[in-house]
Amino acid sequence: MENIDYDKELAALEDMPADELRQLQMGKLKKQIKYVYDNSPDFYQKKFDAIGAKPEDIKTWDDFRNLNLYFEKSDDRETQTASSEKYGHPFGTNLCAPIDKIIHLGSTTGTTGEPTFPYLFTKEDYEIHHHMAGRHFWKMGLRPGERVLYAAGAANLAGLRIYEHALRWYGCLPIPIGAEAGTEKILRMIDVTKPSTLLATGPLIEYLIEATPKILNKDVSQLGLKRLISSGAPAAAIPSVKKKIEDAYRCRLYDSFGGYIGGSCDLDDYQGMHLLTRDFILIMEDLVDPTTKEPIRNITDGMVGESRMTNLQWMARPFFKWSPGDIFQIFTETCKCGWKFPRIKILGRSDDMLIIKGVNVYPAAIKNVVSSLEPKTTGEMRIVLEQPGPGVPPPMKIKVECGIDIDTDDKKNALKKELEDAMHIKLKCRTSVTIIPPNTLERAAGPGAKGQMIEKAYEQKK
Ligand SMILES: [Zn+2]
Repeated sequence: MENIDYDKELAALEDMPADELRQLQMGKLKKQIKYVYDNSPDFYQKKFDAIGAKPEDIKTWDDFRNLNLYFEKSDDRETQTASSEKYGHPFGTNLCAPIDKIIHLGSTTGTTGEPTFPYLFTKEDYEIHHHMAGRHFWKMGLRPGERVLYAAGAANLAGLRIYEHALRWYGCLPIPIGAEAGTEKILRMIDVTKPSTLLATGPLIEYLIEATPKILNKDVSQLGLKRLISSGAPAAAIPSVKKKIEDAYRCRLYDSFGGYIGGSCDLDDYQGMHLLTRDFILIMEDLVDPTTKEPIRNITDGMVGESRMTNLQWMARPFFKWSPGDIFQIFTETCKCGWKFPRIKILGRSDDMLIIKGVNVYPAAIKNVVSSLEPKTTGEMRIVLEQPGPGVPPPMKIKVECGIDIDTDDKKNALKKELEDAMHIKLKCRTSVTIIPPNTLERAAGPGAKGQMIEKAYEQKK
C-alpha cells in the first residue's frame, strides 16, 4: 500500500455531488473513447466506423448512452483469432496497448478449452487495479499485515489470482492454494498458517463447513478466521446461505465483485455490493433493458437491468460497453450500514434466468428456499431442465437432497410439500420436487468450485 489514505479518498467520493461525479466520469470517458479508437484500428475503430460514429461525436452523457455498440465474450474470441493471424499474439485486436507494455496476464482455459485472456494489465493498469481492490479490502476491515488464504479453482483462477497480486500490493500476506489440491490440503494449510481471512468461491466456503469436522476433527468456527470473502459464485447474496456460513464460521461473509468493482458491507442482512470505484469504472451507469437491450434512461432505486461495463482509465484491454450478461438490481438510497455509495445485487446471468409462465426466476432464489429449510435439506439442489431455457414449462422440476433425519416416506412427502409450497409462496412458481438422499449430488469442492445449480437433462438425452 503506497501511503493511500483510503478513508479520506473514499469519504471524498462518497460525498461528491452527483453532477460533479458525472463530470469526472465524462472527462475520463472522452479520453478513454479516443484512446480505444486510436489504438485498436482492427477492432474498435472498425466497430465505430461501421455505425458511422467518431470519438469526437460523443460530447454528452446521452451521446455515450445512445452509442449503439456493445461487446461480449464472442467478440473476445473473434479478436483473439484475428490478432493471432495478424500480429502473431493471441491477446486480441482489442488490445490497445503495445504488447511489450503488458506485464500481467490472467488466462482462463475456457469451457471449450480455448484460452481467453480477460486480465491483461500494463504497469499503470496493474497499479490502478490494486488501488481499487484496496478500497474494498479496507472497507471489509482487512488491514496490511494480515494473512489471507485464497483457494482458487481452475475455473476461477484468472479472477482469483489477481487478488494475490492486489493483496501483496496492499501489504497483506497472500497464501495461495489451488482448489485442485483438494479439501484436505486447503484445510490443513488454514490450520497451520492461521490466516485471518479466507478468500474462495462461496460454494467452497460452504462445503468446508461439512468437510472440516471430518478432516480436522474440529468445527470451522475453531479455525480462527476473522472474515470470509467470496467471489466468483453466489453465496453472500443468498440469505439462507449467508446465514448458514456466518453462523458456522462465526464471522462475516463478504461478497466481492472482481475484487475491484464492488464489495458488500458489515451487516447481517445482505444489502448488495457497494460500488467504491465509480471514478474508475462504469457499472450501474449504462444499464439496458435485459429484453429489448434499450438503454434505461432513469436509473432509480430498486431498478433491474443488464449492465454494460466501461473502464474509465485503462490501457491494456479495457472494458468498453462490455456486456458480461449479468442482470443487476441497483440501489441508490443510503444503505442501512450508513454508506451512501450505491449498491448492486447480481440477480443472475441473463442466460441463467428462467421464465415460468411469465415469472422470472433465478436459480439462486430456488437455492435460497432449499437452504432455508436446512437441516431438513442439505441445501444441495439441482433444477432439472428438459429443454434449453429461459422458458420452462410448469411445473419446474427440482431435485433436493434431504437431511439425514428425513428417513421415512412420510417425512420425505412432507418435505416435498413444504418445499413446493414455499416456492409457490416466495417465488410465485409451480414446482415438482423430487427428494433424493443426502450426499447424492456432486459438491462444489472440485476444481470448478462454482456451485452447480442447473442440470441440463436435455444435453444428456442427446
Ligand atoms: Zn451497506
